[in-house]
Amino acid sequence: MDQYRVFGNPIKQSRSPFIHQLFAQQTKQRLNYQSKYVELDQFEQTIKSFVKSGAKGANITVPFKERAMTLCDQLTERAQLAGAVNTLTFVEGKIYGDNTDGEGLVKDLLNNNIPLKNSRILLLGAGGAAKGVILPLLAQAPESIVIANRTVSKAEDLIEKFSNDKLSASGFDTLTEAKFTLIINATSASLTGNVPPITSECVANAYCYDMVYGKELTPFLLWAKENGATKVVDGLGMLVGQAAESFRIWRNVLPEIAPVLKVLRTKDDS
Ligand code: NDP
Repeated sequence: MDQYRVFGNPIKQSRSPFIHQLFAQQTKQRLNYQSKYVELDQFEQTIKSFVKSGAKGANITVPFKERAMTLCDQLTERAQLAGAVNTLTFVEGKIYGDNTDGEGLVKDLLNNNIPLKNSRILLLGAGGAAKGVILPLLAQAPESIVIANRTVSKAEDLIEKFSNDKLSASGFDTLTEAKFTLIINATSASLTGNVPPITSECVANAYCYDMVYGKELTPFLLWAKENGATKVVDGLGMLVGQAAESFRIWRNVLPEIAPVLKVLRTKDDS
């Protein structure tokens, strides 16, 4: 049977094996997908021996997405610009790297009827996740994307790298006006119970999205809802969306996201 893995550290919390099992059932594909914990100094050799074993592909998660790039024989443009890969495909001993996070996010935004064309987007954060979604967001023809980060220089570096006149960089302290259609929280602040320090005027009447997800609303989404956000959405749909795009790359069939998302949400409620 064709073998796939998700490699990370930590990995116990990963929902990817469950998601890919549901995709396989839905599309009637026979494959084996498991999660695998990798010691920090064992990543490269683990991947190389997995390729040698005749496996077909892998997902890469925290903290190996950048290191995985250096193992690839070829990268897609979106992976190159993201500076990170989350999907590896093995063909005749060669490793092809891609990044499906941005595709997962855009699909989820559109599935939630969040307008992207001509919209004014505020992207909070300038880490790996933010980097990965800039190109797919630009492809949706927004009016502008402001990238705001706690460490402003990182946002400025991103602007320089992408060199697109729709992009601008900012710190949090200057974000005081209600001028955004959509605010995407791509910081990890919610993981530690924090909310990026933007003003409540910013979120009023804006669509608010948090890449983090959980049983309850994240701190950012809770705060945004209390302050008049038009709609709040967490990142579970992005997770399923990026997995669906990996599955398509490997199996040449795109699974349906909605039924899988429904199962995951029901599971979370139980
Ligand atoms: P990184 O570690 O690369 O970047 C973290 C970012 O968060 C940086 O911009 C950092 O700012 C900022 N940050 C951290 N803590 C705070 C805080 N307290 N206040 C304000 N800003 C803060 O992480 P990633 O970019 O890889 O991931 C970001 C989040 O997105 C994670 O929580 C991850 O779980 C989630 N994610 C979800 C996905 C999904 O499918 N739903 C896919 C990928 C990621 P600074 O530069 O100043 O340190």
